[in-house]
Amino acid sequence: VFAHVVQAPEDPILGVTVAYLKDPSPIKLNLGVGAYRTEEGKPVVLNAVRKAEHQLVNDVSRVKEYLPIVGIAEFNKLSAKLILGADSPAIQQNRVTTVQCLSGTGSLRVGGEFLARHYHERSIYIPQPTWGNHIKVFALSGLTVKTYRYYDPATRGLNFQGLLEDLGSAPSGAIVLLHACAHNPTGVDPTLEQWEQIRQLIRSKALLPFFDSAYQGFASGSLDADAQPIRTFAADGGELLVAQSYAKNMGLYGERVGALSIVCKTADVAVRVESQLKLVIRPMYSNPPIHGASIVATILRDRNLYDEWTVELKAMADRIISMRQQLFDALQARGTPGDWSHIIKQIGMFTFTGLNAEQVAFMTGEYHIYMTSDGRISMAGLSTKTVPHLADAIHAAVTR
Ligand code: PMP
Repeated sequence: VFAHVVQAPEDPILGVTVAYLKDPSPIKLNLGVGAYRTEEGKPVVLNAVRKAEHQLVNDVSRVKEYLPIVGIAEFNKLSAKLILGADSPAIQQNRVTTVQCLSGTGSLRVGGEFLARHYHERSIYIPQPTWGNHIKVFALSGLTVKTYRYYDPATRGLNFQGLLEDLGSAPSGAIVLLHACAHNPTGVDPTLEQWEQIRQLIRSKALLPFFDSAYQGFASGSLDADAQPIRTFAADGGELLVAQSYAKNMGLYGERVGALSIVCKTADVAVRVESQLKLVIRPMYSNPPIHGASIVATILRDRNLYDEWTVELKAMADRIISMRQQLFDALQARGTPGDWSHIIKQIGMFTFTGLNAEQVAFMTGEYHIYMTSDGRISMAGLSTKTVPHLADAIHAAVTR
């Protein structure tokens, strides 16, 4: 009965790793998926995470019962504080409902499904380009996906005018997906002044902001600085949604830990919204897993572990920033034609190199360097040792 099923294409991002694993070359380099690597090219488990896990293992009072549908209450409270700020008036006024979800992706999906059922406007505007999964997550949630201009290939920066025009002509009430920081794939973020203009436009048109926060702390090294755009939206008293992921900033990728928060107008509304979020979650996966969220709660509640985490997080962000400088310097040293200053200007895990699909294919074929075909490279996958190889490949690709 399944003989008619056709072979599906590989995922455009995860498929890069599949191709990389098949390559027997000793010099191969995977810059596809956005996962942090050390200078030695190894994945890391943060010390704060190891210590939290030890505490959890040694606590014999812990059991494996089901969690509530919305997850661990303390995790939810601490997650809301992390993103909205410890002194957030919305939290103090109990206007925020937070539910534990399956990392960033699951949080976006639960938010999308909730909006499709309970919000009056179906259109969601996502930036062009964006993380590829956004399109499918929101379309399958039942929303109508539209795009707003975001990236300007000519300047390799923000198309701010285009963004304002497109959001300005969106129907009143439309949902707007915003990358909280470290925009994926472009590495281009609005300045705080531009954020303020975006906020005024969104509020004046009664658009509904939905923040995707997958990189809090990874952009600047500061958890507070990277949350600033969201906090200014929350400070004006209006509604918003935010999907948080602990994949990158705590290195908990495969533990699938995240949270969806919805900031409402009143405490009353927040209670009813939460009751409906439960009806979204229950038939999807019943309730979330315990382990990852317990690690996060253990770190966020303990001053020492929290401090240790922030130091380790800053070190990861700083290593990425240093890779940007090293790659830029290596291209300068080779006299590679073109302006490569965007490598040091862009923010977060990725550089949107501006290389085209043909140049990417050349670099994979000749240099065994793997990246997405849009020319995005994960700076976190680079090291001092591999920068010269990448610079050679880019130089060869653009001077061919
Ligand atoms: N949003 C963006 C912009 C991302 O880059 C990612 C991860 N690549 C996610 C969401 C979701 O990641 P996860 O589900 O692993 O938390």
